[in-house]
Amino acid sequence: MTPKVIVVGAVNVDMVVTAPTLPRAGETVVGPGVERHGGGKGANAAVAASRAGATVHYLGAVGDDDLGRTALAELSTENVIVDDVEVIGRCSTGVALIVVDDAGENQIAVGGGANIRLSVDRLRAGLVASLPETDCVLVSTEIPDDAVVTAVELATAAGVRCLLNPAPVIPAVHRLIDRGAILTPNRGELAALVDPSAATGAPTTDQAIEHARALNARSRAPVVVTLGGDGALLVDPDGGAEHVAALPATVRDTTGAGDTFNGVLAATLASGTSLREAVTDANTAAALSVARLGARAGMPTAAELDLARA
Ligand code: ADP
Repeated sequence: MTPKVIVVGAVNVDMVVTAPTLPRAGETVVGPGVERHGGGKGANAAVAASRAGATVHYLGAVGDDDLGRTALAELSTENVIVDDVEVIGRCSTGVALIVVDDAGENQIAVGGGANIRLSVDRLRAGLVASLPETDCVLVSTEIPDDAVVTAVELATAAGVRCLLNPAPVIPAVHRLIDRGAILTPNRGELAALVDPSAATGAPTTDQAIEHARALNARSRAPVVVTLGGDGALLVDPDGGAEHVAALPATVRDTTGAGDTFNGVLAATLASGTSLREAVTDANTAAALSVARLGARAGMPTAAELDLARA
């Protein structure tokens, strides 16, 4: 049986300009490169899960415009099911404006567009229709609070495994901590979860274990922390903590590493493996993805993942 995953989150069109330097306030910089890529954490993770072999239903919203049509066509090409994506009239599809300088530093401004006007009723209908046949739901947070709450509550009430990627940490995440979803923060998000004043900064690996244990106590669910080039942590409510080291990678572009990790985690969990195995697979897939340019370009196929496991 093919594992079935629902992904709820944002879809954007990324407009990427390469320039010698990043612009300061009021400044215009001119560079040679312009590229357009599919983006948005939800849509990116949906592509990662689909390439890893799951049947993926993506739920989100686009505007009734050319960008939205292109975004949906790109997802369909990746075998992601977009039948229940909401198309909102007189509204732009979400856009990320990204400037990358010669040193690889970037500056990003996101216009949420349709993502932040997503209708909760429409989302609920899409979830209710698909949940009975779903093995895992992945929710990310560049969408309205109510939409995130609805998705996590419906999934957990239906007894379906639910991953909540708190990127960014919006108020809904704090409200949902005790609902049994598996949280998947990176270091910065973990710090923001345990200390909303964010005074603590990015935690070391040891501090991350302590922070995750503090979340375990409230959530009674496992927490998976991504640690960039240090791999990932799986911290269980029973007190167990496991560090999965990163695979060695020649890093070319870390954009979308977290989306790859989350999408593959959902796909592998949906296939019935243990969470430990799913974290290992996600860690492997994310390392493969950073070795290639572009958020989606580096996401491995199931065959590439098999090869890397061998
Ligand atoms: P995000 O992209 O959400 O900030 P991270 O930076 O924690 O998330 O990266 C997500 C995952 O990508 C990590 O858990 C790891 O598996 C993989 N990864 C990121 N950077 C590297 C790296 N330099 N080498 C190998 N794997 C990496």
